[in-house]
Amino acid sequence: MPSAQTKILWLRKTLRIHDNPTLKACMEDASTVLPVYVLDKWHSNPQNVGDVRFEFIMESLRNLDEKFKKCGVDAGVIFVRGEPEKVLPKIWEAVDAKAIGFDTSEEAEKHSQKTDEDVAGLANKADVKVIDEPAHWMHPPGLYERHMNGGEVPTTMSSFETLFSQCGSVREPLSAPKSIPYDKGTADKALDAIRKALDVEDLTVPKSGDNKFYKGLKREQRKLRFPGGEDEALKRLEKVVEKQPDWVASFEKPKTAPTGLEPQTTVLSPYLNAGCLSLRRAWHAVKKAEKDAKGKPTQPPTSLAGQLLWREHWLTIGYFTEEDISKMKGNPLARQIDWDWDNDAKELFAKWEAGETGYPFIDAIMTQLREEGWIHHLARHMVACFLTRGDCFVSWEKGFDVFDRLLIDADWSVNSCNWMWLSCSAFFYQYFRCYSPISFGKKWDPDGDYIRKYVPALKDMPKKYIYEPWKAPREVQEKAKCIIGKDYPERIIEDHTATSKENMNRIKEDYDLSSSTVK
Ligand SMILES: Cc1cc2nc3c(=O)[nH]c(=O)nc-3n(C[C@H](O)[C@H](O)[C@H](O)COP(=O)(O)OP(=O)(O)OC[C@H]3O[C@@H](n4cnc5c(N)ncnc54)[C@H](O)[C@@H]3O)c2cc1C
Repeated sequence: MPSAQTKILWLRKTLRIHDNPTLKACMEDASTVLPVYVLDKWHSNPQNVGDVRFEFIMESLRNLDEKFKKCGVDAGVIFVRGEPEKVLPKIWEAVDAKAIGFDTSEEAEKHSQKTDEDVAGLANKADVKVIDEPAHWMHPPGLYERHMNGGEVPTTMSSFETLFSQCGSVREPLSAPKSIPYDKGTADKALDAIRKALDVEDLTVPKSGDNKFYKGLKREQRKLRFPGGEDEALKRLEKVVEKQPDWVASFEKPKTAPTGLEPQTTVLSPYLNAGCLSLRRAWHAVKKAEKDAKGKPTQPPTSLAGQLLWREHWLTIGYFTEEDISKMKGNPLARQIDWDWDNDAKELFAKWEAGETGYPFIDAIMTQLREEGWIHHLARHMVACFLTRGDCFVSWEKGFDVFDRLLIDADWSVNSCNWMWLSCSAFFYQYFRCYSPISFGKKWDPDGDYIRKYVPALKDMPKKYIYEPWKAPREVQEKAKCIIGKDYPERIIEDHTATSKENMNRIKEDYDLSSSTVK
């Protein structure tokens, strides 16, 4: 098919048109830009991607589809299924594309990085130009690499901040294009050619509630608490950052409550991870808010700008570390700990995941995670500590998998690094400082409103027992219509204080062992 200037934009985690330099580069000299999303097997499996996370991605794609259409791309987002390295060559051959654009800074996970390399290799062989203009981070990976001391990846926030400042100021974000090159005649022929090459009829993004590509799961259609998409992302940025400079300037992460019925932090993470919002755009909005505020702004690492630096810090670690940092073995960052994985440990893990630990604060958090796909940072601390070194002594890798499946902001690098931190496997080693599943929540929410919302079985439990319902006398349980062991589970760990002390000793032993075996 004659189409000298057809270019493909492969969409993955830059689900936006603002600050999208790869899109901009694709538009140069193009007569037609075809945005393509490839749903692979891994993402369509509910064992890897939970229903809320999946729906968040689909909503983001539907919004992007509308935005492309508004820019003149009548076809919108072309939605296909299969493995990218198999499907994309068929597409570029069918439409005789001259170039394919994708942002390789989006992927740090090793299998995905390999897929990117494979696609780039196949494109080069087919004489299809690869356009890659990194914009998933504040600075492109190549710039960090140039400033890294002999390739050394910073593993502390202060060394990362030094590297960050050496890279200069963060580039201003690009504005969204008003129109995108699209020749209808060429595009219609291209769509027909794609249908034929892939042997499919429908190339449109699945509608809300359409689960036919999402194996086996029959989920009721329901509204997400945090809807996906670029429009939502920009609205949220405006509401939480641009319109409240004083709040931004006084932000101190450790002072925000994990138990707020309304989030106490920005909830920008899902949008940053899916690329509905550019990190550079968020950074400049935060910096402007700090300038416009009346008072002196708080400082990293606890300020809001500091939070964005944490993100960038973990992204660099995941991207530049050659080994798989989501696993303990062979991971140069992680201390080797002899976590339990016998039948008892498996049972503890299953109850933790299901939100049936018998500790109301833990169960409330795990329920919010499952139903809404987002929980506050300190809530993540609480359940991560409980699963690992605090109570269950189950490996952080298991917790990583659950978060990866359920979080709408799931990010491979950020998730791995935070789980290593919380389990005292890397970056933080004060294993003797442990979160209590009783007093930690109580400090923020003495009435237990958060628990009442997410664990309805306990909604009438008196305040005195809401964090420790097993202590409620039988008549109190009856009055609250919540009999422990029947309406709400017994504790899976009977004595948190004693268990956490034992676990501290175990961690210490493993630390001692690993330091004595280090040659
Ligand atoms: C065990 C564990 C697992 C986690 N897994 C993820 C994950 O998969 N994806 C993810 O984005 N965050 C993860 N976090 C980090 C953090 O909890 C979330 O980024 C944050 O809670 C998101 O809420 P927010 O947007 O309201 O954050 P805010 O406090 O409003 O911060 C603004 C932005 O800064 C970034 N940020 C804030 N805290 C961190 C942090 N500690 N590390 C990296 N970036 C940060 C986020 O992009 C966030 O949107 C994890 C934390 C823990 C303890």
